[in-house]
Amino acid sequence: MYRELAPYLREKYGGRTQRISISYFKTCPNRDGTVGINGCTFCEETGSGFANRFRNLDVKTQMLEGIKHAKKRYHATRFIAYFQSFTNTYAPLSELEEVYNLPIVDDVVALDVSTRPDAFPNEVAELLKKISIKREIDIFVEFGLESINENTLVSINRGHSVAEFIDAVLSAKRYNFETIAHVILDFPSDSIHDEIACAKLLSAVGIDGVKMHSLYIVPNTPIARDYSKGLFKPLNSDEYVRRAVAFLTHLDPKIVIHRLISTPPAKALWSVKMSAPEAKRRVEEGLKSIGKFQGSDFNYLNGASWRKKFANSQERST
Ligand code: SF4
Repeated sequence: MYRELAPYLREKYGGRTQRISISYFKTCPNRDGTVGINGCTFCEETGSGFANRFRNLDVKTQMLEGIKHAKKRYHATRFIAYFQSFTNTYAPLSELEEVYNLPIVDDVVALDVSTRPDAFPNEVAELLKKISIKREIDIFVEFGLESINENTLVSINRGHSVAEFIDAVLSAKRYNFETIAHVILDFPSDSIHDEIACAKLLSAVGIDGVKMHSLYIVPNTPIARDYSKGLFKPLNSDEYVRRAVAFLTHLDPKIVIHRLISTPPAKALWSVKMSAPEAKRRVEEGLKSIGKFQGSDFNYLNGASWRKKFANSQERST
C-alpha cells in the first residue's frame, strides 16, 4: 500500500540494513544566534537524539555498540551511520571530515546526515562526495521541512522557508545523494490541503524518501508553554491518520516511506498516543477503506491538464 523502507534497503544492499543513530553535534543555527536563539518551538533538549541510548559515548563507540545491538536484535548485516541529533552539517569542514569518517567501519554501506535546509552549502556537499568516493559508501541527506505552510514555519520559529528546502534538495540531488524529507503532518495551523500540497512538492522536487512525524509536546519548550496556557488545541489520532492517508495518496509511489509516525520521548506532555504498529494498521485501513494506495492521486505533474484534454487525441492523430 506504500513503499516501505526495510524491503527497499534489503534490496539495495543485499541484507537487513539498520540505521545506527549517532549523537555528536550539539547545536544548530536556530539556537546559536546565527538564525535564531530559541530554536524551533517543539525542539527538545537533545535535538531529537533522545532515543540514542549510547549518545554519551564517543562517535566510534556509539557506532560499534549500535552495530552490536542491531546484529543481536534485528540480525542486521549492513549498517548506515546516521548523524541524527541537531544540525549535522553545521561545523567547520575539517571537523566534519574527521567526525564523518569515524563511524565508517566494516559493513557500513552509507553515511546519513540530518540537517536544516539552510545549512547545506556546496562545500559540505563536496566533502560528502569525496568521502563517498574514497570510502565507497552512499550518502543520504535528511532535510527538515516540517511544513509547507509558510505561516506555520513562522509560527514554529523554524527560521527558514520552503525555498531553502527546495534549493538544498536540488543541490543534494546534483551530487547524487539520496534525499529524505522530514514532515510533521498534524500542526493545528495546517490543514489537510497543506499536507496534500506538501506531498505534491516533495514529488515534484524528486525527493527519494520521507519521514512522516506527528507533533509531540515535551516540557521546557515554547510549544509546551503555549499548550499549558491553552493557546492551541492539538489534533487527535483520527486527524493524523486522515492527513497521512491524503499525504500518501498524493505522493509519488517511488518515494520510500522511512516512517509513518514519530515515537515521542517518555517525558512528552502530549502526543497522539499511537504506536508505530498502530499507525501502520490504521493508515493501511484508511487507504483500504477508500480503495487507494501511495500514489493513487499522483496525477498532477508533466502538464496533467493538457494531457487529460489532448494526449489521447494526439495519439489518435499520429
Ligand atoms: S528542530 Fe532542529 S533546527 Fe529546530 S531548533 Fe531543534 S535542532 Fe535546531
